[in-house]
Amino acid sequence: MCSKGRFQVSVFRLLNFLTPETLNQSENKMKTKETTPLPQGMHIVAKPIGPLCNLNCTYCFYLEKQALFPKGEEYRMSDGVLAAYIKKYIHFQPTPEVEFVWQGGEPTLLGLDFFKRVVDLQKPFAHRKTIKNSLQTNGTLLTDRWCEFLKRHHFMVGISLDGPKEIHDHYRRDRGGAGTFDNVMKGLKLLQKHDVEYNVMACVARETAYKPIDVYHFFKEEGVEFIQLFPIIERMADSKEEASGLRLAGPASLDKYEANSRVTEWSVEPGKYGDFLIAIFDEWIRNDVGKTFVMNFEWAMNAWIGSPSPVCIFARQCGRSLVLEHSGDIYSCDHSVYPDYKLGNILEDNPLEMIDKSIAKGFGVSKETALPRQCLECKVLNACRGGCPKHRFAKTYYDEPGLHYLCDGYRKFFLHIRKYLHAMAQLLENGFPASDVMMAFNGPLVIQKGK
Ligand code: SF4
Ligand code: SF4
Repeated sequence: MCSKGRFQVSVFRLLNFLTPETLNQSENKMKTKETTPLPQGMHIVAKPIGPLCNLNCTYCFYLEKQALFPKGEEYRMSDGVLAAYIKKYIHFQPTPEVEFVWQGGEPTLLGLDFFKRVVDLQKPFAHRKTIKNSLQTNGTLLTDRWCEFLKRHHFMVGISLDGPKEIHDHYRRDRGGAGTFDNVMKGLKLLQKHDVEYNVMACVARETAYKPIDVYHFFKEEGVEFIQLFPIIERMADSKEEASGLRLAGPASLDKYEANSRVTEWSVEPGKYGDFLIAIFDEWIRNDVGKTFVMNFEWAMNAWIGSPSPVCIFARQCGRSLVLEHSGDIYSCDHSVYPDYKLGNILEDNPLEMIDKSIAKGFGVSKETALPRQCLECKVLNACRGGCPKHRFAKTYYDEPGLHYLCDGYRKFFLHIRKYLHAMAQLLENGFPASDVMMAFNGPLVIQKGK
C-alpha cells in the first residue's frame, strides 16, 4: 500500500472496499502487537465525602452505600487520612506521574478549604513527581471562587451532564425531585468562563439511548469538546442484598450462572446502547474527527492500533484501580465497594501490596481468564475484552455464564466502526492525521506523501 517517496491512498475506497480479509489482517496485527506488558502503576479514586450528595439521581449506584456504614457516620475524610493518602500514593506510585481523582458522592460539598489543604499537602512532593488533580462533580455548587481555584491549580474537571434539559432532567434530579439542568449549566458556563480544563461525563440510561443525535448536537452547540458516554446498567438487589439495605446488586459471579439478571427500569437496553453509539459515531466520523473528542471512540482507536486500554472495562485485565473511601478504607474498585472487597486501610497498609493481594485472590485477572467461549471466538474481542466483570450476568449462545449484559450493543458498535478505524489507523501509520478520514465522505481522496 505504501511506496517509498510517494504514498497514494484513496480513503474513500478504503472505507467502501475493505474486504473481510483486509480487516482480518489488520485485526491479526492488533493481536500480535498486543503483547505490551500491563502497566504496573496504580490508580486510586478518592471519595472524601463517601456517598453523600446534594442530588438524588434516579440511577445513582453510590448513594445507597450509606447503608454499609454505621449509623451516625460522619462522611468527611479526616486530615490524618488525607495526609496519609497523599503521602503514600505519591511515595508508592512507581510511575513518574501521580493523578489524584476526587469523586463522590459530591466532593464539592466538602468546601473549597478541603481542596486548598489537598494542594498544600501535595506541595512538598511536587519536586519528585508530576502531580495532577481531577475532580468529578455534578457542577451545581461551582462558583467563581471555585473555578478560579480549579484554574489556578490546573484541576481537570469532569462534569456530569446527560444532554439537553428534557433528557438530563429525566434522571438527574435534586432531593426535592426537581430537575437539575439549569444549575448544572450554570456550573458548566463558569468552567468555560474561567477556562478550566473540563470534560463532560454523560450517562446513557434507558430513555437517553433513544436520542443520540439530540445529545450529541447539544454538546457541540454548548462548545463541549471532550465527551465520555457512560452506559447505565444496574441489577436489582437479591434478598441478601436487600437485607443489608441495598436496592441494587453487587458484582456478578463469573463462574456460575447469575440467577438474578433482572435489571432496573432505567438500565440501558443492550441493542439500543449500540445504536446510540453508532448514531453518534456516524455523525462524528463525517464532521468532527480532531475537533470533538468522544472518549469512547478514542478508546476504540487505541485498541485498534494495539495499545493497552486506558480504561479498565476494555483492558485485558483490571485490578490496579483502587477506591479510597472517606474513612481510609480501600476497596478493589469503584464497583466493588462492598465488605467482601475491602483490602485494607490507607493508615496502616501499603496500597501496592493491597493491589498484589487483591490480584493474587483473582480480582482483575479473572476478567481475562474467565472469558466465555463466545467472547474468545468473537471478532471484536480485542476492542471489547468482554467488558466489566460486574456486568457479566448474561448467558452466551452456548448457554455458558459470564457474558456481558451489553454484548449485543458492544458487538454491533465495534463491528460497525472497524472499517473506519482501519482507515484511520492506515492514515496514522503513514504520517497523515486521522482526521483526513472525513475528506473521504466528500468524494474520492488521493493523498500524496511528502507534499
Ligand atoms: S471490575 Fe469493572 S469497574 Fe472494576 S476495575 Fe474491573 S473493569 Fe473496572
Ligand atoms: S462483543 Fe460480546 S462476545 Fe464479543 S468480546 Fe464483547 S462481550 Fe464478548
